[in-house]
Amino acid sequence: MSALAINFWNKCSNACIFCFCKEHDLLTEELVPPSISSLREVGRALIEHKNQCDWVIFSGNEPTLNPDLLVAIMLAKKIGYKVDLRTNGRKLKNRTFCRKLLKVGIDRVNISLLSFDYKTHDLLSNAAGAFDETVAGIKNLVSLWDPKKICIYNVVTKYNYKQLTKSVAFYRDLGVKDIQFNFVYHTDKNITPALSGLESSLQKAIADAIGFGIKVRVYGFPLCFLGKNYKLASELSTSNEVVLGNRITDYETVRTDFGKKKTSFCHDCKLGDICEGTWKSYYGIYGEEEFKDKINEI
Ligand code: SF4
Repeated sequence: MSALAINFWNKCSNACIFCFCKEHDLLTEELVPPSISSLREVGRALIEHKNQCDWVIFSGNEPTLNPDLLVAIMLAKKIGYKVDLRTNGRKLKNRTFCRKLLKVGIDRVNISLLSFDYKTHDLLSNAAGAFDETVAGIKNLVSLWDPKKICIYNVVTKYNYKQLTKSVAFYRDLGVKDIQFNFVYHTDKNITPALSGLESSLQKAIADAIGFGIKVRVYGFPLCFLGKNYKLASELSTSNEVVLGNRITDYETVRTDFGKKKTSFCHDCKLGDICEGTWKSYYGIYGEEEFKDKINEI
């Protein structure tokens, strides 16, 4: 089964400097407002895709700002979906809102917290005060719910990759039980770090998280930079996402046809059948040289 990702909102309280929603070179389409804009259309889409999808994901800019979100979740639950919310977590600082989310039957929440350090998080989010609100939101949700249903997303950039181990310790102290490290997709060298530079920080952070009993996954990284933990790549296990109301139609196509590619050194790699390489934007900045010796390490 696939997951159904519905975007029916286009505002956000953050303005992340790496925001995928603003990237123009991944796809040639112009950014357009969501084509699904009413609860009636959401309901129709939920019914239409039920045979194909068991989860629905509400994402797309910041879904918690959408006044129709709770009703949309109720609709999805009534039709028989499990519901996943992807949020910057700021609105979760309101405990009453958290209780409402739980009452309508949310099944999973993914929250972006980019660092243990408020300055780094606010800089990457491009929003003063975002860190405090997101952390308050995570604390609320952890205290009201099963922490295993809450996943923290950390988008790994040049600004925060050296902080990964401290961030993991901070997540643990918040009571977090699930983390995903996402490799930033960006064409700017000031935002995208070199894989050879971040490799040891990432692997140490993964090892720490596992040692703390936290579930870890990674996304966007080439498998050869993950060492023995390459099986943690979420691309190997995540079901495809059918995307409605956005400029893309499904994430697997975006990744494999538009977003990622392998290198000229990959053809002899033992992991070549399961690895997708990394973001095309990466090679535009750093080229392929770092991959030359990697296949010998596998
Ligand atoms: S060498 Fe290429 S195919 Fe092999 S793991 Fe690295 S990126 Fe993937």
